[in-house]
Amino acid sequence: MNKPNRVIITYICNICQQKRMTILPKALDVRVDDRGLSEYVDVHVCEDSKIKANILFIDSDHAVRSQVSVTGKEKEKEDVTDTSFLNIPAPTKTEFSEQQIILHRRFKANFVKEIMIRDKLRQLIYRTEDGEGELTQIYCNSPMGFIEINASISTRVQKELALEWISKIATILEEVVHFDERTFTHLLAYLDERINKNIEDKEIAEMDFLLNSPISVPISNQESLDNFGKQAEKLFSNLAIIDYSYYRSILDECIDNENKTLFDIIETRSQKISAAYFLSIFYDLLRNALIRLEKFQFFTISG
Ligand SMILES: [Zn+2]
Repeated sequence: MNKPNRVIITYICNICQQKRMTILPKALDVRVDDRGLSEYVDVHVCEDSKIKANILFIDSDHAVRSQVSVTGKEKEKEDVTDTSFLNIPAPTKTEFSEQQIILHRRFKANFVKEIMIRDKLRQLIYRTEDGEGELTQIYCNSPMGFIEINASISTRVQKELALEWISKIATILEEVVHFDERTFTHLLAYLDERINKNIEDKEIAEMDFLLNSPISVPISNQESLDNFGKQAEKLFSNLAIIDYSYYRSILDECIDNENKTLFDIIETRSQKISAAYFLSIFYDLLRNALIRLEKFQFFTISG
């Protein structure tokens, strides 16, 4: 716990008085905006066993400078600007700012024609170009109501299936502590590649890795690499030789890793292999305990 490479961020929730903490791995830097603050979201079981989200503003010294508690459905009316108890800049945006999702060259728009993600926690809208042709309109809300997604999907995908995929994304996004829109570029390509198949736990986990990838650090060690050498064929019996070499090189790249986030690795690899394939390998390695993932997330240290 006391490794010098890490920074511990703690704060006490104003509502439930729980002490919440997180460990910031070395690979993550707190990138502050022009107010000198960086925005994080801590979703936890708060007062009266209700799930609440705290929007936290952290400065470059990793101190939590302010917190604003928000609950799901009423969020938009319950104005985040009620911050009279704060003596520092607080969220003042009342309008949503809209941002275009940058499309990856692997994104073919075979099935996913348009997507608009409305993030009420961070007041942002992400969208792709308008889709054409015969489309099914999908709309969903995350469990706490912070994330709304509208999507236009090809009629070649069953509506129920598409809805299931889009709902899972909304659920994951709602719990992402620190949001990075660059993940959408890969998410769209991933979704387009997978959406016409049933969603399973594996895919949910992979999308979770992806959306959290900028705040996750994958770590392996020499022992894991040796174990992989000895047991690869037993552990992963259906792989082609080229797959083994990808598995090995990903393990190799993560040996004693301190500086690269999972997102950095996905980005570099996406020149050669799709994010979907990369995430599938990553899932396999993690499930077999050959790699571990240090994820930046808040947890309670006192009741
Ligand atoms: Zn609380």
